[in-house]
Amino acid sequence: MNLVKLAFFLASFLLVAGNVYSVDAGSAKDDSRVEELLKRTIQEIRSSPEKAATTIDQLNAIKDQLTDTQRTKFYLFSAANLGFRGRHKERVELVQSVLDQVQDPYYRVKLLYQMSSGFTNLGEYEKALQAMNQSVLLLPKLIDEDAKSDVLQAAISVLNSLHAYDEALLFADRMLALDTGKEKSDLKCMALGNQVEINFLRGERQRARSILPEAIQTCNSQRGKIISLLLNALACIDLIDSGNYLQGKGAALQTLQEFSKLNQSSDYGTQLEEALARAYLNTGNLEQAERYGLQSYQRAKDGNAVLIMEKTAETMASIKRAQGQYASSIEYYEAALVLKNRVLDDQLHKNLAFQRVKFDTQDKANQLNLLEQKNKILAVERELEKKNNQNLWLLISLVVVILIILSFWLLKTLQQKNQFRQFSQTDGLTQAANRMHFISFANEAFKMRTGSVSVILFDMDLFKNINDTHGHATGDWVLKSVSETVKTHLRKVDLFGRLGGEEFGICMPDSSQASALQLAERCRMAIAMIDTEPSGHIFSLSASFGVATVDGNGLRSFDETLEAADKALYRSKAEGRNCVNVYRQA
Ligand code: GH3
Ligand code: MG
Ligand code: MG
Repeated sequence: MNLVKLAFFLASFLLVAGNVYSVDAGSAKDDSRVEELLKRTIQEIRSSPEKAATTIDQLNAIKDQLTDTQRTKFYLFSAANLGFRGRHKERVELVQSVLDQVQDPYYRVKLLYQMSSGFTNLGEYEKALQAMNQSVLLLPKLIDEDAKSDVLQAAISVLNSLHAYDEALLFADRMLALDTGKEKSDLKCMALGNQVEINFLRGERQRARSILPEAIQTCNSQRGKIISLLLNALACIDLIDSGNYLQGKGAALQTLQEFSKLNQSSDYGTQLEEALARAYLNTGNLEQAERYGLQSYQRAKDGNAVLIMEKTAETMASIKRAQGQYASSIEYYEAALVLKNRVLDDQLHKNLAFQRVKFDTQDKANQLNLLEQKNKILAVERELEKKNNQNLWLLISLVVVILIILSFWLLKTLQQKNQFRQFSQTDGLTQAANRMHFISFANEAFKMRTGSVSVILFDMDLFKNINDTHGHATGDWVLKSVSETVKTHLRKVDLFGRLGGEEFGICMPDSSQASALQLAERCRMAIAMIDTEPSGHIFSLSASFGVATVDGNGLRSFDETLEAADKALYRSKAEGRNCVNVYRQA
């Protein structure tokens, strides 16, 4: 029981820290006087609530000149200040009157906390729970992690005060789940702090103790330092409650000293002093027991903290009895009894209210969990989709790159294949078809022929003389020039080939003997007209021709025709060269 009020204070402290102090006073471009006043209000609210009230009055006078956000902050600070001054009825009424004007979920949850806390203090637990529900429902709309943790902390605080520890623990777990592990560890500190506190409250001491070291360690940073101190106080009280008076006494004295340094709230000291009084009582130091007992009783009375008053009255009764001052002891007992009834009455109220709202809360909490899960799944799905898209693009790019490379490779291969074929079919010097290709082409042309096919053969006249007189290079030049010249007279379907040395052939598909003769004559004249000057020598050139055509003259195969053309060529040589002869059957 003695932990309840302390725990409530812990929750309140966490809330005040988050709920009001995390609100940014404002940006530079806003009216500096207003911002100055707002800033001062935040500072004064906790240090001197009465002073803050004056500053708030000043802001109230210029309320109409404030921006929407400034006005919302003004309401929020006013409500917080009323809370600190114990004027909870006005606090609740203020929030009720302005809540509809505030749409920003960030400020709505902060105002709802003021409302929920105010109703709790007024003993209107049902309304407190309803305000809490409203703010919990806004959770999915909050982006700011601090705001989210504020909502959860507010819910934990209300639920703790109603002794709904299982439910409070659920919210503490959710708070822990919010912690992303990076940045400051405030969230984790608060969540672990809550877990410790709630477990102590519901009597799970072992569980609370097992979380305590990590909680204190996590909170041992700047903002968390005060929370770590609160947790230390919980640990001290736990020691004394479980009978470790000597150890508990030492730790409590040290912690109290830490607190006096920080000049923290009296509720705190009161709890710790009460526990310390019991520790002294149980170790026989009645003088110190009475000193701390009285101190805590007086402080509890000043703060109108009913639960602590009851506890301290009980402790004082025990101390007085140990001192043998029975009359005084009975007085304390009686006071404790009256207070206990008040506490029990209050508890009954709380339980009833909680039972009434509980199902609603649970339902909403479940809905919310579902919503959060759905959101999480959606986020994961989106992430997955994004990754899939990225992978798809990667795949497409890869395929495209591979296709391009393949196409290049294919093109190169085809080009190379063509080149090789060209090489294997062409005579290197004259670029005419070589003998092998000429023969296979001609054979094919004869096989496929639908009409007549002609073959022209020609051999350079007295070529040996050219080589001998002007050199082999000049001979080569002649062979090239002759090829070039002859090619210009051919049709596309004709094939020109070098059959050996200085002997050439022309295969003419679909060509009559007359047109073959005509072409042979044209080539003969063209060769004879070749200007040899570019070779560096001037000399005359000529070639002897033989023409044979398959069809109508008893010729059938290419071999026969080639032989016939050769015979005609031989005749041209015999007739004195530089002339054309057509094969005729003997
Ligand atoms: P004909 O009029 O009776 O054909 O007399 P010809 O001198 O042309 O005949 P012959 O067969 O006696 O000589 C052919 C010469 O052609 C012999 C050879 O050295 C030459 N020859 C063969 N192939 C090439 C070549 O690729 N380049 C050169 N420069 N000369 C070649
Ligand atoms: Mg010759
Ligand atoms: Mg020859």
